[in-house]
Formats: sequence, structure tokens, C-alpha cells
Amino acid sequence: MAMLRVTSCLFVLLLSAFFSMLSFAGEKRFRPAAHVVTSFDDAVSAGLPRSMRLPTTKHHARHAKDDGELVIESELDVGLRFPGDVPGKMYVATWQGQHAVVTRSGDHLDISVPAAEGVVVTGFDNESDVPHHVDTSLTFDKGQRQTTAPPASPSTSRAMNPRASSLPQITFWMFLHDDVLDVDRQHIHARYVAWWIADLAKVLPSHRLWAIYSQQIAGVTDIPYGHTLALQDWTDAIDSWNTRERTPRPSATLDFKFMLITRDRTAPGTSGQAWQGGEQAMASLNGRYSVIAHEFGHTLAAVHDDAEVRYASGWPCETNMIPVTSVLRANCYRYSAKNERNMRVHVAREWTIPSIPHLPDEPKYIIMDAKSPASD
Ligand SMILES: [Zn+2]
Repeated sequence: MAMLRVTSCLFVLLLSAFFSMLSFAGEKRFRPAAHVVTSFDDAVSAGLPRSMRLPTTKHHARHAKDDGELVIESELDVGLRFPGDVPGKMYVATWQGQHAVVTRSGDHLDISVPAAEGVVVTGFDNESDVPHHVDTSLTFDKGQRQTTAPPASPSTSRAMNPRASSLPQITFWMFLHDDVLDVDRQHIHARYVAWWIADLAKVLPSHRLWAIYSQQIAGVTDIPYGHTLALQDWTDAIDSWNTRERTPRPSATLDFKFMLITRDRTAPGTSGQAWQGGEQAMASLNGRYSVIAHEFGHTLAAVHDDAEVRYASGWPCETNMIPVTSVLRANCYRYSAKNERNMRVHVAREWTIPSIPHLPDEPKYIIMDAKSPASD
């Protein structure tokens, strides 16, 4: 009898230990404290994966399966610097049941969800716990938010070596033209870049990727564009800047791609241009969400011919390199398998074979309406 009691006591003990372990595992849940951004930081420093609930508005909850739950899964190994050398971190997450990429930088927390109707961004900042919805059509504030003093551009040595990495690096250096200064750079990142670079990191696991933003550099971010030779002019501008800044020469372990991000079309009839397999590209925020992915894709040797329209998910979607886009199709937010292979071969061989002449993407390849075809 005594034996039985000891055994059952032991059993109860074990059982309660088991349940407390279970509840510990399920307890990775954070109630937002005063500020969402602070709670997010607390959740991350407590260890990932972790789930937390965030305030939502009806608008955000439109497609919600699990309203307001953010599961932060892991940190992305992608380097990120905003103008003024402001560091950022990115995370793979699930937001309201959908695959998401979270970017945390300065006082910003932005959740990007690549959806059929466009990239839906839910943003928070230190000022308020009410999410600000980043509208699908970028609003230009006529310069009201323009910063007064030009922030220092990140020094190349610091930018390139904040974390020791044994992997060769590819830096996607994006220069914000003076005419997009009134658009929040964090939101440019959240809409056009976050989902793309998270995907590219999976496509090119052999390299560590960097996204660096610079702005307000005389002779670089103020050049005229929109004419037929704009890409050549951008190339000349960035060449002189590289000489002036003594940017390290590209090598087997360090590669650069330089993009000018503009408000209007980069050349007549086109929202982006790039040198095929080269180093310079241009993209307009007037283009689709995939415009930056498309142009950087060219610099990594991805081609139009290997792009595809996919029908698997019920509604057709276009991979990043589709040359002429249709408002009747969604973005796939991916490259085709063939273009992924093209890019892998390119980064693997770039330094071992003589490079082919860098022919530009022909300027009339992508004709689009002024607005991206997103809803709202
Ligand atoms: Zn193209």
C-alpha cells in the first residue's frame, strides 16, 4: 500500500513535471508591455522561436487566421544598414498565420507579408502601439519629411566587417535618389527588399548578403535620370564615387552591386535597368514590388527567358524576371528554378572565368502603369 502511494506520488510528480515542461514550451508568449517595439526586443532577447500578440486594426485582420499572433522563428543572417549607419536585423516569422519577414531597425518594427495583392506591411514605432498600415501606393509627402542634415554614409570598412563571416559577401548597395527622400526608407525596405533578400539568402547559401542604404550624396543621389543613357550615367557616377571613397576592389570574397532607387521611371518606358551580370542597376518605386528583385537579378545573371508564370496556387503568379508584367497576375516573390541556378552558377564562377561583355537590359522591357497593381 505504502509502496503504491510512493509510486503514485512519483507518478504525479513526474506528470506535473511533464506538464510544467509542456507549459514552459507553450509559454513562449509575450504580452506586449508599454510599447510593441520594446516587447519585440524583449521577446527576441529571451530566445527564439517565440510568439507574441500584437495589436491589430480591423484592416490588418482582414485575412487573419490567427488574429494578432506573431511567431518570430529565427534571425536571418543578412547584414542590414540604413542611412547614417543605422543597423537593422531581419527575422523569419509568421504573422497572423502567414509567412512574413520582420525588419527591426531604429525605432521601427515592420512586418512584411508577401501576399497575392501585394506586399502588406504592418509597421510599429516607438511613438505608438497602434500599427501603421503602409499603404500599397507609396505616398510622397512633397518633401515634408526630408531630413535637414545629410547623414553620413556608412564607412565601407565598418559596413563590411561588423560581424566576422567566413563566407564570401555580396553587398547590395542601394542609393536613394533625392526625389524619394520623403518616403520612409524602412518602408522601402519592408515593401521591396525584405522578402526578396530573405529569399535570395536561401538561393545563395554560399554567400553572406548585405543590404546597405545610402542617401544624400552629391554627384550620386542627385543625378538626372529618365533619359535613354541614364544607366550609363549612373555607372559613371558610381565609378567616381567608388574612386573617391576608396571602396575595396571586388574580389573573390567581396562583391558589390550598386542600385539607384528613383521615384519616376529610370528611362523612357521602363521602371528599371541593369547591366546583365554587371554591377550597376536602377529601379523606380513606380514599378512593381519585384522591380528591385528583377534588376538585382540581372546583375546576378538571371534572364527574362528563364522566367515563368506559375499556376500551382490557383491564381497565376509571375516569377521575378518576367519582362512584361500583367496586372491580372500576382507576384510569386521568387525566381524560377532556372534563374536560381543561373545566379548560383554566376556567383560561383564569377572570379574564375573572364566575364562576358555587360550588355544592358534593354530599356523597353517592362512597361507598367504608374501604380503597382496592389489592392486598396
Ligand atoms: Zn529585365
